[in-house]
Amino acid sequence: MISQNAIDALRKTEIGERGLFIDGVQAAATSGATLAVISPIDGRAFASIADGNAADIDRAVRSARKAFEKGLWSRAAPAFRKKVLTKFAELIEKHVDELAVLGVRDNGTEIGMAYKAEPLSAAGTIRYYAEAIDKVYGEIAPTADNVLGLIHREPLGVVGVIVPWNFPLMIGAWKIAPALATGNSVVVKPPEIASLTLLRLAELASEAGLPEGVFNVVTGHGAVAGEALGLHMDVDAIAFTGSGPVGRRLLEYSARSNLKRVFLELGGKSPNIVFADAPDLKQAAVVSANGIFRNSGQVCVAGSRLLVQSSVYDLFMDELVSATTRLKVGDPLDLASDIGAVSSAEQLDKNLGFVAMAQAEGARLVAGGERILTETGGSYMAPTIFENVTQEMQLAREEVFGPVLGVMRFETEEEAVHLANSTVYGLASAVWTANLSTAHRMVRAINAGVVHVNTYGGADITVPLGGVKQSGSGRDKSLHALEKFVDLKTAWIAL
Ligand code: NAD
Repeated sequence: MISQNAIDALRKTEIGERGLFIDGVQAAATSGATLAVISPIDGRAFASIADGNAADIDRAVRSARKAFEKGLWSRAAPAFRKKVLTKFAELIEKHVDELAVLGVRDNGTEIGMAYKAEPLSAAGTIRYYAEAIDKVYGEIAPTADNVLGLIHREPLGVVGVIVPWNFPLMIGAWKIAPALATGNSVVVKPPEIASLTLLRLAELASEAGLPEGVFNVVTGHGAVAGEALGLHMDVDAIAFTGSGPVGRRLLEYSARSNLKRVFLELGGKSPNIVFADAPDLKQAAVVSANGIFRNSGQVCVAGSRLLVQSSVYDLFMDELVSATTRLKVGDPLDLASDIGAVSSAEQLDKNLGFVAMAQAEGARLVAGGERILTETGGSYMAPTIFENVTQEMQLAREEVFGPVLGVMRFETEEEAVHLANSTVYGLASAVWTANLSTAHRMVRAINAGVVHVNTYGGADITVPLGGVKQSGSGRDKSLHALEKFVDLKTAWIAL
């Protein structure tokens, strides 16, 4: 883990103006326009990035296509790709402190979480796909004797990667690493409010030996650069994580352009269900508080709907409120802070809007509900709990993506399942019970990509992540993710 001294030395580093990364070098935006980078720690600008537009996306896609056709990467032996990607992972590990602090200055995640979840996780993901890629075989089909049916896996070509600001490196790596490992070129559009670490990642990729044009980054507005990537006629697939409305647009862009594949990882309203026979209610309360409030609730799988069985409701709520008030909100670059800043002033306003709406709808505020640490100039919010939430309220239906928890009671298992599934989302969930049969029944009954049992939020690169219903399609992570970035080609050979 990083030391406070190392953090303090890095937090003042001059960043200056950062360009796009196209064809292996930094480049200004065609228009010359830039965007200020505001830190949510203190509300101050500390760098600027290029404001890329459709012309810049076109430059990056051309460079990616040229590299793909040249074949230095796309047709390289998997063992070569493995070597370069392994070096890439090592370079990220070498720069882990720098990347972690840079990312926190950009998006405000508490350093304890960011350090592991961002650069270290990205390095681990890249290493995982590097190690996997020379172990993936083609297939021979079980045909009749007089033919040979071969199934080849071929890279798609140019993959567009669009990611959100909560964990740009980790989520970026979930897409970039399997896309590169399978031989594709990528054009990455980082989130406008947290682009710096992905730009640095591109430099490290180049230093590791990735050929020019294989890894490009175009910063800028989603509605301009992101849209241009989604509409580009020479992009073969878009791998996206972000909100539902933007996911819908990407499907439209695909329909209006070249029918490119679109893989969507979207939002959630994940139920966290506590049965009266949970093995340890106190521990369940602590983990549940962390499961919604870490990174100021800006976690796609956050357990934002808590369902508690009536017979232990009062006891559990006491433990939950006590665990929540113990969480220290503060400077995300202070190792003593449990929760850092909300990513931007706009996001903080959105969160406070949800608080006002929940109160107007009749939910009862039992903790937080306000902006705090205003004297810092940054965007901080107290972890917020509402009870008496009903299924009709917006707080039960819409994703806040902030530190706001809605609590409901239930009596029976059937009622818990009904409430859990009464949402358009299906990303994550959890069940707390000592009864093995209850746990297995709930795993089957809940419509979600993951059901945690007696924990919340754990995972690693070996298991897939993604949602059902309006939480998306396709899966990040695990060997399954490789399939998104290859085409199956059949050779049918008469013998
Ligand atoms: P967002 O959808 O606003 O933005 C995501 C990305 O899309 C950004 O890079 C943005 O610039 C780009 N974008 C915006 N408009 C675009 C357009 N018209 N065309 C193309 N690209 C465009 O989401 P956000 O606010 O950055 O992130 C929060 C959302 O992400 C939440 O809904 C959250 O649940 C979701 N999320 C999901 C997962 C998951 O794995 N399922 C993980 C993290 C976050």
